[in-house]
Amino acid sequence: MTTIDRAENTLYKTYSRFPVVFERGEGVRLYDDKGTEYLDFGAGIAVMGLGYHYPGVDEAAKSQIEKLVHTSNLFYNISATEAAEKLLKVSGMDRVFFTNSGTEAIEGALKIAKRHAYNRGLPADYEIIAMEHSFHGRSIGALSVTGNAHYREPFDPLIPNIRFAEFNNLDSVRSLFSEKTAAVIMETIQGEGGIYPATEEFLKGVRELCDNSGALLILDEIQCGMARSGSMFAWQGYGVKPDVMTVAKALGNGFPIGAFLAQGEAANAMTVGDHGSTYGGNPLVCAVASKVLDIYKEKDIPGHVKTVGEYLFVKLEELKASSDKVVAHRGKGLIQGLEFNVPVADIVRNALINEHLVLISAGKNVIRFVPPLVITEGDVDEMVVKLLRVIR
Ligand SMILES: *Cc1c(COP(=O)(O)O)cnc(C)c1O
Repeated sequence: MTTIDRAENTLYKTYSRFPVVFERGEGVRLYDDKGTEYLDFGAGIAVMGLGYHYPGVDEAAKSQIEKLVHTSNLFYNISATEAAEKLLKVSGMDRVFFTNSGTEAIEGALKIAKRHAYNRGLPADYEIIAMEHSFHGRSIGALSVTGNAHYREPFDPLIPNIRFAEFNNLDSVRSLFSEKTAAVIMETIQGEGGIYPATEEFLKGVRELCDNSGALLILDEIQCGMARSGSMFAWQGYGVKPDVMTVAKALGNGFPIGAFLAQGEAANAMTVGDHGSTYGGNPLVCAVASKVLDIYKEKDIPGHVKTVGEYLFVKLEELKASSDKVVAHRGKGLIQGLEFNVPVADIVRNALINEHLVLISAGKNVIRFVPPLVITEGDVDEMVVKLLRVIR
C-alpha cells in the first residue's frame, strides 16, 4: 500500500489532502517521495519563514536536543528566558506566555480578556467584539471568535456574547461597542478570510474606541506577524499598539510554538494559577525560536520582505491586468492574495501537479501568496511563469 492509502486508512478525515507526499526540503524548494522538485509558495501555511534548513536553525535544535528537550514550567530554563527577552524587545510588549500553537495563543489572549473583565468588575454578560471573515483557530474558544458561520455552526453552542462586526467598517464596530465590551479581537491582516489588510483609519479608530472604554485590543499576528508584512509585526506598520497580541506560525520555523504577549494592565490580568501548559515554551522549541529571532534581526528579514514583497506586488498587478479571471489583488509584503471570479481549487491543484508549484488558497476564490520570506525576485518570476501557464 502507498503512503497515501495508509494515511487514508488511519488519519481522522478532517482534511481533503493533495496527492503528494513531501519528503525533503531545501531553501524554498520541496521534494516529493519520487524526488520531484517543487517551488514552495505556501511555506507550510506561512510557517517556514526562513525556508528549509536555513543556516543555524537546525544547529540550534540539535545542540539543544543534546542538552535538554523538556523540563515543564515548574522550573526555569535558559532558552525560554532568552526567547522571551528577544520577543519582548522586538514587540515592545511587557510579558509573554509561550504556547504550542496559534490556537492556544488565542485561548490565552481570550483568557486575559475574560480575566481583565472580571478584574474590572464587568457584569458576567460582558461581550467580545470579533470580525466577520476572521480566522483564529479551531478550539472552542478560538472558534467562538472566528467569523465564519460554516466553521462554527456544527459546534454550537460556543462561548456566548460574541458580537461580529464588519472588518474595516469602523461604524460597524462603534455600533456594537457598549459598557459591556470587554475586548475587540482581530487579525491585523486577515489571512484565511481572503488577505484583507486593516485600513489605518480602521485600526486607529478601534484603538481609540478601546482606549475610551477600557476594553482591550487583541491583535492576532499569528499569520501576518514575524516580518511577513514587511514589519516585524504588522501593527508596527500602522503606529497602533495592541494590549494583547498573538504570534505562532513562523516563530519556530516549523517547530511548534506560539505565544501571547501583553502590555500594561493586560500584562498582569492573570495571576499565579490562572494558566499553564505542560510543553509550552519548552527548551527545544525556545532554542529554535530564539535562533529564529536572531536571524530575523541579523539578516534584516523585514527589510528583505519589503523589497521582494514590492516586487511580488508589481508582478501580481501585471498578472491581474493580463487575466480577466483575476478580479482583485490585495495585501503587502509577503502576504498577498489574488481574487478570481471562479473557485481557485483547480488552479491550486493544477499548479501543484503539473507545474510543481505549491500554492494555497484563502477561502474559495483567493490564491494566497505566503512563501518563505527568503525568496528572491528570481523565485517570484519563476512562480509567475508557472501560474500564468496554469491560468491559461
Ligand atoms: C493559523 C492561524 C491561527 C491558528 O493557529 P494554529 O497554529 O493552527 O493553531 C490563528 N489565527 C490566525 C490568524 C492564523 O492564521
